[in-house]
Amino acid sequence: DLLVVGSANADLVTVVERRPDAGETVLGSDLVVHPGGKGANQAVAAARLGARTALLARVGDDGHGRLLLDSLGSAGVDPAGVLVGGAPTGVALITVDPSGDNSIVVSPGANARLTPGDVQEAGALFATSRVVSTQLEIPLDTVAEVVRSLAPGSRFVLNPSPPAPLPGEVLAACDPLIVNEHEARVVLGTDVTGEPEDWARALLALGPRSVVITLGGEGALVADGTGTCRVPAVKVDAVDTTGAGDAFTAALAWRLGAGESLADAAAFAARVGAAAVTKEGAQASFPTADEVAALCRA
Ligand code: ADP
Repeated sequence: DLLVVGSANADLVTVVERRPDAGETVLGSDLVVHPGGKGANQAVAAARLGARTALLARVGDDGHGRLLLDSLGSAGVDPAGVLVGGAPTGVALITVDPSGDNSIVVSPGANARLTPGDVQEAGALFATSRVVSTQLEIPLDTVAEVVRSLAPGSRFVLNPSPPAPLPGEVLAACDPLIVNEHEARVVLGTDVTGEPEDWARALLALGPRSVVITLGGEGALVADGTGTCRVPAVKVDAVDTTGAGDAFTAALAWRLGAGESLADAAAFAARVGAAAVTKEGAQASFPTADEVAALCRA
């Protein structure tokens, strides 16, 4: 089984003609509210593919929390690990301008209250999980406690987003560490130079057992102690790349749990990421296993 530990947010989206200056008010379009947050997105993506998935997260005792619990439930995610209360549900306040650029304010809310103690109390979920996947929209202390809570033989997958420098204990557990170029730069603490193969080798030197670098429309690259290999992108008409990274990570974590090699799991994940960019939205764009198979026949 797959356990995702991470954030759950309500994404509040309105389209504006232009952004307000300080002290100014502008009118936006009717509000649209989407379930989001990287943790919830990964859990929904995996469950939609058919993975037995649980989410350890925290939402508020409010309407946004109920919206998230509903979307997790309809995707088939085990909600037993979703804790309720302590702060309002996390929200992302998103304004979209006519050129399609976003400006986003995130209020972490309950996500910031997912504590190491919450992880310790979720021992039963860890005991049954072959793969545990996390991101960084929850406190870093909580992620470190996840690493300490892994059952023997279970595998830890981390997408450090939003990126931050990582403690050695967390880096050493990653198998793989999944980053895009921007995240690679922050984790390395230096500008990345040369080819993605060079960044992968620099990242491996920090201690993770394996590294995956996602390259958007260029696919991905996997690297471990035995070498590096490219995973080609699947050619699709990209409509909206929101959530592609979450779908990729979820798919990879699920296939690793099923015993596939890192290269095979990444090739499947690239198909899932490609399917996710062919539709608008994050959770709304995540494919079923049949849709992934259909994409490959097309
Ligand atoms: P992030 O959103 O974290 O930056 P990417 O944009 O690299 O992640 O997307 C994750 C994966 O989704 C990529 O490695 C690739 O496999 C797939 N993907 C993303 N954009 C495209 C695209 N335009 N065409 C095909 N596949 C894509």
